[in-house]
Amino acid sequence: MPSTSRLAQETWQALAETSSTTVRNSVAEIIERDKLELASAFYRHMLSDPGAAPFLSVFAVEEKLKPGLQRWMEVLFCHRSVDELAAALALQKHVGEVHARAQIPVNLVARGLRLLKHEINTRLLETGLSREDLIHAVLYVDRLTDVAFEEMSAAFIISSERSARTDEAYKMFEAGRNLALEREKQSVAILEWEARFYRMLAAGTPFDDIHTLQDSEFGLWLHHKAPLLFEDTRELPLIEECVDRIDESLFPQLVFGRDKNLQSESNRALAKAVLVEVDEIKFLLRTMFDRLVDLEVGRDVLTHLFNRRFLPSILKREISLARRNADSFCVLMLDIDHFKRVNDEHGHDAGDRVLQQVAAQIVAQVRAGDFVFRYGGEEFLAVLAEIDEARAMVVAEKIRQRIEELEVSLSGGRSIRLTVSIGLAANDGHPDYQRLIDRADRALYVAKNAGRNRIAKA
Ligand code: GH3
Ligand code: MG
Ligand code: MG
Repeated sequence: MPSTSRLAQETWQALAETSSTTVRNSVAEIIERDKLELASAFYRHMLSDPGAAPFLSVFAVEEKLKPGLQRWMEVLFCHRSVDELAAALALQKHVGEVHARAQIPVNLVARGLRLLKHEINTRLLETGLSREDLIHAVLYVDRLTDVAFEEMSAAFIISSERSARTDEAYKMFEAGRNLALEREKQSVAILEWEARFYRMLAAGTPFDDIHTLQDSEFGLWLHHKAPLLFEDTRELPLIEECVDRIDESLFPQLVFGRDKNLQSESNRALAKAVLVEVDEIKFLLRTMFDRLVDLEVGRDVLTHLFNRRFLPSILKREISLARRNADSFCVLMLDIDHFKRVNDEHGHDAGDRVLQQVAAQIVAQVRAGDFVFRYGGEEFLAVLAEIDEARAMVVAEKIRQRIEELEVSLSGGRSIRLTVSIGLAANDGHPDYQRLIDRADRALYVAKNAGRNRIAKA
């Protein structure tokens, strides 16, 4: 049983034990007698509330919700044994999950419960209970409802989180699937526009028939859909500039006549300029899509490691797993020593090969359940699951040694040797994952300053 439920059960049981039979029976009697009236008052109020009404259909209220609420009150206020108590708790969980699926805001549930308490308490005042019993009865109703609310909210939050995660995964899946199609459609759209432009130009027909690029299918996509897919990319504004140059500056200068349009010297030059812009658009479009595809699958193209995109999700998850299971995990931040020299002495391609082989070595030394990210240019980050600092140190040392021993083969039969520095940080339970990364990063800095090719702990 999750700990919140255990807590609720204990609270609930204590409540049942500390309240007298008179108190419990008085409350149970009111519920048995007035449950229909209470449920009706509850939904009358909710339907007249502009905040709540959109979540309720009158049909559902009569057919489903009113009987449901009556059952809920019976289970909550009329239970007699511990077994019934467990069932009552299970019901709160179920109701919370239903509310989550229906996306009913928690504040509405709170408001509804407040209303019910008020209705029940008003009726308690009319019973002939002694002053002391009355106070106990009011408190009993109050606390029971609060525990129920707590249980419902806990289930609500867990369910909402789960469904948010599924939503996110689904969105990514959909985006990935549509991306290939989208890319194909847009490269065809721009090719078609280009072909049409050429035909018109060669045939010497007037140009009113050809749309500006902005009004073409591609232009529409660029203004309406592309910003959603490619927000914040460097390329998108550049493409828009190309389109503007074609539409606003080059197009108006074309001179149309009865003669073939291409025969004019200036038209030929302008047409060439248009096609240069179109080529640039095609190039930018390709770059933009390439990057998005890599991002979608979450991998770095060069090393095939995870890219940083999923690092926050994975660290958040590991932090909460570690908290729940009361164990530890560690982060290694690795940086190749003097990597600039490799590039300078052997060229950028050689540098790329080094990155690939170092990445492969790191992956080879960790377990299947660990994660290795390409964190930056020649920086890597490993998340070692369920491991304490001492054992993580052994893993880090193994990585350091293997890379030191590695003969990295370059093209033309050449090979080089190199080393890495590593910063190690064990999770200290802080909920903010960025702090853990920063600690590993500072440890790496210490290792670098102490002479490189070594490991430092945070
Ligand atoms: P240090 O020991 O202090 O880490 O020195 P360093 O030379 O490794 O560090 P610095 O950060 O000065 O240089 C990192 C270099 O990595 C600079 C950059 O050109 C190169 N680099 C980054 N990403 C890539 C890449 O994808 N391919 C290649 N070939 N080089 C890259
Ligand atoms: Mg670096
Ligand atoms: Mg470096």
